[in-house]
Amino acid sequence: MITPEYIPLIALSIHAHPDDQEFTVGGTLARWARAGCRVVSVVVTRGESGNNDPDKDGGFKPALARIRIAEQAAANQVLGIAETICLDYPDGELEATIPLRRDLTRLIRIHKPEVVVLGDPQAVFYGSGYINHPDHRAAAQAGLYAAFPSAGTRLIFTDLLAAGYEPHNVKRVYIHGSEKPDTWVDIAATIEVKIAALRRHVSQLGDWDPEEMIRKWAAEEGQRGGLESAEAFKVMVLEEEKQEN
Ligand SMILES: [Zn+2]
Repeated sequence: MITPEYIPLIALSIHAHPDDQEFTVGGTLARWARAGCRVVSVVVTRGESGNNDPDKDGGFKPALARIRIAEQAAANQVLGIAETICLDYPDGELEATIPLRRDLTRLIRIHKPEVVVLGDPQAVFYGSGYINHPDHRAAAQAGLYAAFPSAGTRLIFTDLLAAGYEPHNVKRVYIHGSEKPDTWVDIAATIEVKIAALRRHVSQLGDWDPEEMIRKWAAEEGQRGGLESAEAFKVMVLEEEKQEN
């Protein structure tokens, strides 16, 4: 039984780029953080390709990476997220490799999340106008398979075991952007915070105000879930709680 009111003790949010988390699950993470959940936020790339200004060349990438990581840290602070972790995989060229899965497995074994939050590795198309960024799928796939089976299986990545990272069983995986969601988290109390956090990604938003779009998305998802404002997930329950509240 999946309860929308469920609050994990520790959650690990895994996304490809700075700002992905804020567009998709910021309301849920803020809600959980307010209720006492320790949320750890992982960005797999530093978003250093996120600029199409013809006056900028490759030399701009290190500076943009610094800007975007600072924006992510600021956004996380707004959401009440305890910790920001930045891996350094190449933005725009991400693949769901074994080294990435190992890195994410290590983070799961260190932080021991009850829940891992990520995108849908199966999502290639959204409607007829948006091709999902391949980095999003790669981060989601590597994160999903880090959560299961790698984190909990002792003899996968024995180098991690030798280094002292003991197995950890993730209880649930919250997958956003699924075409078949089954759980709607009420974000009426945290949508303002979600929008405020998203606005910290100044380098990506420019003059555009995301409020109208975010409210529209939340209302659409809310309608499907019988709520005023919601974020939608497909939830995989890998380990049942002993007692559901
Ligand atoms: Zn992205």
